[in-house]
Amino acid sequence: MSSTVVDHELIIVGAGFSGIGTAIALRKAGFDDFLIIDEADGAGGTWHWNTYPGIAVDIPSFSYQFSFEKQRNWSRVYAPGRELKAYADRCVQKYGLRPRIRFGTTVVRADFDDALHLWRLHTADGDELTCRFMIGATGVLTRPKLPEIPGADRFTGTTMHTARWDHDVDLRGKRVGIIGTGASAIQIIPEIAERVSELVVFQRTPIWCLPRPDAPLPSAVRMLMGLPGGQLLTRLASQAFVELTFPLAAHYYGVLPVSKLGERTGLSHLKQQVHDPAVRAKLTPDYALGCKRPSFSNDYLRTFNRENVVLETDPITEITATGLRTTEQHHQVDVLIMATGFKVMESGNMPTFDLHGSNGVKLEEWWDTHRLQAYEGVSVPGFPNFFTIIGPYGYNGASYFTLIELQTTHILRLLREARRNRSTRVEVTHEANDRYFREMLDRRGSQVFWQESCSLANSYYFDKNGDVPLRPMSTVEASWRAGHFDLGDYRFDKAGTNVAVNAGRAQASKADR
Ligand code: NAP
Repeated sequence: MSSTVVDHELIIVGAGFSGIGTAIALRKAGFDDFLIIDEADGAGGTWHWNTYPGIAVDIPSFSYQFSFEKQRNWSRVYAPGRELKAYADRCVQKYGLRPRIRFGTTVVRADFDDALHLWRLHTADGDELTCRFMIGATGVLTRPKLPEIPGADRFTGTTMHTARWDHDVDLRGKRVGIIGTGASAIQIIPEIAERVSELVVFQRTPIWCLPRPDAPLPSAVRMLMGLPGGQLLTRLASQAFVELTFPLAAHYYGVLPVSKLGERTGLSHLKQQVHDPAVRAKLTPDYALGCKRPSFSNDYLRTFNRENVVLETDPITEITATGLRTTEQHHQVDVLIMATGFKVMESGNMPTFDLHGSNGVKLEEWWDTHRLQAYEGVSVPGFPNFFTIIGPYGYNGASYFTLIELQTTHILRLLREARRNRSTRVEVTHEANDRYFREMLDRRGSQVFWQESCSLANSYYFDKNGDVPLRPMSTVEASWRAGHFDLGDYRFDKAGTNVAVNAGRAQASKADR
């Protein structure tokens, strides 16, 4: 029997909350030989990259944190982004993850070695790292998407994407154009409107904007949360609110009247906030609430009452040297903000690097041929020893933290079983994957996404095949399944070659850069 050495038993790609949560779960379960790789120079993923003015979470903070690491000192019900970034850094510090993270390293390709049952990861700086198991924790909203509008390279002013905010750009007194009215724009627009001389908001599809039950958390409330059961109660109330407003509302549309109620609330919010009926009409969505991700804000809509804010709904035809031209007029701007979102259910993001499984099959191409799918949102047949935190049909709309915890439960069951029976290759069977995919498609009937009006929403939930690879089930059911799926849905095999783990080799070389 020949012998080879892998650098780590596990490599996690991504040091956002998915990667951090997975790493903590691995440590708690006694899997200590792992490395986390991230292209950024700090932890936190979304909360590391997104630093635009006004950034805050749009799920109550009581739910937007790990269940095992609840903190009481959020300043508001909806914590600002910098507090999330600090929370990520604290988790990294508290759970001793820093020496296991290699920052500033981009994985560009990964290949499964069929003979040795291991993954070979290639980085942009030319290194090769090997591991037995690889965990994809690269997140969903990772790759900024720029609009394909002619002339972008001709613009002589400053351009920036919301996820790459340049804090050296002083917006005071500037004419600013912002393309997009999604969740990021909704937070930025009210924040910058006061300091710019003119703000032109280019809207293609209006967003459902609901009131946000936000408030500062006074120290008295935080003290109450410190009493026995206080944390648990706030968490339960918050989880119930989140579950009702997204997963249940979207996936049980025909059964629960939450969306209709939400639409009435949204329309009344719009009426209260916007004075001009013509502007109000332009801001009124013509698709069902839930077709695309709604937003929550108490000051976005009323920003359109300001004299220096223009809502432009004519289509943009080109970007010029000095501004943007629509079908009707030219707007001169000094700064152009691209609030145009991210690659989501599309090539370049699914996955974020070239991933070749058994027999060299490329994951992106496999998904192109077979449609986006992954067993329980975690595993894909033909891609052994690779598990994703939020794969297709893994995200149901609940707080990412809840989903990260339940997906790591699934992965840990596999790793424990592989360790118990000394397997070196773990792969979901085609039968189990097909069964899960069929089940997901069968459950579509009760989802909001199949309303006719959703065709008007331009929603990134839909992929190029017209599928919505979100998980049509409640969080309670998804949690139960993570702990109870049949291990017989996977094949566990042993390599004919003895592969030793050389713990820490790769980590020692670069992790503390
Ligand atoms: P987004 O929701 O995808 O919005 C992108 C916006 O850009 C849309 O209004 C889109 O119009 C517009 N757009 C794109 N290309 C365009 C073009 N060529 N011409 C005109 N308009 C164009 O992106 P996002 O606002 O960055 O939000 C993405 C997701 O991030 C959210 O859904 C949410 O899940 C998350 N997020 C969360 C928070 C939070 O928790 N606080 C904050 C920000 C973002 P169409 O609608 O017509 O496509």
